[in-house]
Amino acid sequence: MSSADLSQEQREFGEYARGWLAENAPPPPPERLPITPIEVMTVGQRDYLQAWQRKCYDAGLVGADYPKAYGGHGHTGFQRIANQEMNRAGVPFLINIVGLSMAAPTILQHGTEEQRRKFIPGCLSGDEIWCQGFSEPGAGSDLANQRTSAVPDGEDWIINGHKVWTSLGHFATWMILVTRTSKDHKYDGLTYFLCPIAGQPGVTVRPLVKITGETGFNEVFFEDVRIPDAYRLDEVGKGWAVAMTTLLAERGASEGAGSGGGGGESAIRDLIELARGTWRDGVLAADDPVTRDAIMQRAIVAEGMRQNAKRARVPALCDHPMRLPLQQKLTGSEFQQNNARLGVEIAGAHSTLYKLDPSAPQAGHWPLAYLNSYGNTIAAGTNEIQRNILGERVLGLPKTK
Ligand SMILES: Cc1cc2nc3c(=O)[nH]c(=O)nc-3n(C[C@H](O)[C@H](O)[C@H](O)COP(=O)(O)OP(=O)(O)OC[C@H]3O[C@@H](n4cnc5c(N)ncnc54)[C@H](O)[C@@H]3O)c2cc1C
Repeated sequence: MSSADLSQEQREFGEYARGWLAENAPPPPPERLPITPIEVMTVGQRDYLQAWQRKCYDAGLVGADYPKAYGGHGHTGFQRIANQEMNRAGVPFLINIVGLSMAAPTILQHGTEEQRRKFIPGCLSGDEIWCQGFSEPGAGSDLANQRTSAVPDGEDWIINGHKVWTSLGHFATWMILVTRTSKDHKYDGLTYFLCPIAGQPGVTVRPLVKITGETGFNEVFFEDVRIPDAYRLDEVGKGWAVAMTTLLAERGASEGAGSGGGGGESAIRDLIELARGTWRDGVLAADDPVTRDAIMQRAIVAEGMRQNAKRARVPALCDHPMRLPLQQKLTGSEFQQNNARLGVEIAGAHSTLYKLDPSAPQAGHWPLAYLNSYGNTIAAGTNEIQRNILGERVLGLPKTK
């Protein structure tokens, strides 16, 4: 975003955010942080990141564009500036990714006034960590195949079922939860809830281990879990429409709350740093024309993504509401994967040294990032599914069988 696109007020906010981040960058974490919020494993990591989110929130860098009544700071067009400055400053990511990028925008759109006032402030400050209970053993790409049931009982609902791949479920106090309330209709038989998780009787959270050796996502079991009707979001049977709001936000449409963390710029910086510190056959990788060209190609993609994000803010260019967000999820996850692959190539044989090895370049970041990148092409709907949706619904190609 060039400063010419900004109002005077937005420029001043950008200067404030940059100055604040320079003065308030947090001390080094007590233990190594994972690459993204969805691999936060330990209480030490959680406490450090939760305190950092709270500080950014108090400074006005998170929830900048949310109404004050819902815990926001009441501005317009400030959040993307804050996001950009957080990215530029290279500060830690904000832990409450599900709360910020999925729960808050969904509650804002579908919640009652009472629900917005109750739930959105904790999403923004990070005081309440949220997780997403959509996927089930038989409902991933076919999300509408939900089996977790919600059955009415007086003023309450009784939940039974099994969710899987629930990122941050081990630290979450709340879950955005899709359930089946009728077996007669596939899509119209779904209902969406805001469900308490931590300490809730009948809820069991079990960690799953990823290819990286980290945990971060979980299985969550519901056995006769009782929640009040006040935690239902939107009408009974409207769960599919509400889930689509969440998915659109998850796949990149939402920059309303702030998520922080590294974007394209920081990824290119990391690759350059690696190339400047890697010798091969007596030549610095940064002086090798093939490596320089490969990094340049990554920088061009980063710039393309940045321009695409700008395009997404111009209503006249958004002929189809899903096109740019879905493109962003696809290009973003493949961008990360290709960066990680290049990092592993530049580090060469040293890429076999994993994160606990003291000789590993950049503390073993590249092999970890490479393994981790495969999760990103699956999470939030696999890239195959995104391509199907883009082909069928945006380009109007024939449907797959
Ligand atoms: C790191 C990570 C974090 C996650 N976090 C969460 C979370 O917090 N909450 C949550 O609810 N879920 C989460 N998920 C789950 C994720 O949304 C699902 O894994 C994803 O939707 C795919 O579902 P599935 O794993 O059941 O695979 P399946 O749907 O069984 O798909 C298996 C393979 O078949 C392909 N396939 C399926 N149908 C089609 C089709 N019609 N056309 C072409 N190819 C097809 C898929 O692309 C995939 O390659 C996470 C996943 C990962 C990897």
